[in-house]
Amino acid sequence: MAKKFYITTSIAYTNAPPHIGFSLELVQADILARHHRNLGEEVFFLTGTDEHGQKVLRAAEGCKKEPKEFCDEFSSKYKRLKKVLNLSNDDFIRTTDQKRHWPTVRKVWSELKANGDIYEKKYQGLYCVGCEAFIKKKDLVDGRCPHHQQKPEIIEEENYFFKLSKYSDKVKKVIENDEIKIFPESRKNEILAFIDQGVEDISCSRSKEKLKWGIPVPDDDSQTIYIWFEALLNYISALDFAKNSAKFRKFWPADVHCLGKDIFRFHILLWPAILFALKLPLPKNILVHGFITFAGQKMSKSLGNIVCPVELVKKYGTDAVRYFLLREIPATEDGDFTYQKFKGRYNSDLASGLGNLVARVLTMAEKVSYQLRIKPDYEFKNKINKTWKNCKKELDEFRFNEVLVLIWELISFCDGYIEKERPWEEGKNQKEVISNLLFAISEIAKLLEPFLPETSEKILEQMETKKSKPLFPRI
Ligand SMILES: [Zn+2]
Repeated sequence: MAKKFYITTSIAYTNAPPHIGFSLELVQADILARHHRNLGEEVFFLTGTDEHGQKVLRAAEGCKKEPKEFCDEFSSKYKRLKKVLNLSNDDFIRTTDQKRHWPTVRKVWSELKANGDIYEKKYQGLYCVGCEAFIKKKDLVDGRCPHHQQKPEIIEEENYFFKLSKYSDKVKKVIENDEIKIFPESRKNEILAFIDQGVEDISCSRSKEKLKWGIPVPDDDSQTIYIWFEALLNYISALDFAKNSAKFRKFWPADVHCLGKDIFRFHILLWPAILFALKLPLPKNILVHGFITFAGQKMSKSLGNIVCPVELVKKYGTDAVRYFLLREIPATEDGDFTYQKFKGRYNSDLASGLGNLVARVLTMAEKVSYQLRIKPDYEFKNKINKTWKNCKKELDEFRFNEVLVLIWELISFCDGYIEKERPWEEGKNQKEVISNLLFAISEIAKLLEPFLPETSEKILEQMETKKSKPLFPRI
């Protein structure tokens, strides 16, 4: 039986249209999904939208829309990214989906309530609507949430609590021994230090008056389930956990959760604790990406510097955007976007580097009748085998930019080979040289498939039809 590979992104919050940061996460997950499919594994790649909560409700009210209608509109914008970014996701889950998501949430709630991991308690605390989370006084800067520059609201009510403290030692242990492996390592140290400060139980519901837009607590209509608590469950609701489906039994646990650095605490602490309480296996890897700035500044509506992935793709094409995100930004670090950087990468790496090599080789090949040699020169074969091996190693550690560096080294190697052999000169063994090069570009196309799927296909197609067209016209 084929090995399974289950990969997820976080689910996007439907109070704003997609931005380039979430596109990065989607594209990273897509690379891994495609790579594992190419290895012959059975892959399930999930993404979706997180649609409940005060922020969404307020945004909907702000444009005088019913929350469901508002969510439908935004969710479809995220769903459309599949086409825009050429994603290979197998599913798209919405937390407002009462048929798919809610039964799992209800089942989990009832189980945890029955075994005492959820209990009622009076509570007073500070709540940041921006974070959709309680925030501690010591974390405020000048009385405001450091992430949202908003003053938190004081909330006093009787809520349900989840016994996070009961599981924090267990979570600490699995993080320490890499049972849940966190990339990058610095995030692992950060969460361990956080746990060492002491972990309290977490409120997992709000009064219905305060949180109207959400999933009602089973058997208690006065309360709504806290959105983080139910949103995390999308990773198992999409597999029909509630029905203990064959799909769930096959794909759970997740092999990789991809997410951003702003939400990693929920995933690295709360999520494993919920899974412990449910006696379910834990996810294997958590890949935490950084943020993308615009010319060194945070992207924000007020600064008007938000880069829209849809517009970028419209102008420069899907693969150019995928390439920039993966090559320019190390997978687990922050990165910066400017149009100058984007155009620089495009022209030097795609138009001149890859595009030029493919056009050169195919133009030479058009002049001689050629056949692809199954057995290229030893030097070539060796170089290509090594590249495959090293690329796989880098991919297993999620260093996407390094994989692209390796592929572009192979491109330079081919350029060097052409200069050395000068197959257009008389008396040269043209056919042999060109066959070697054709072999190389077909392998480059295959290496590139997870990263630039459309370009990869185009290269192989041009080889087939023996007609070259520019892959990336200069911009
Ligand atoms: Zn906040």
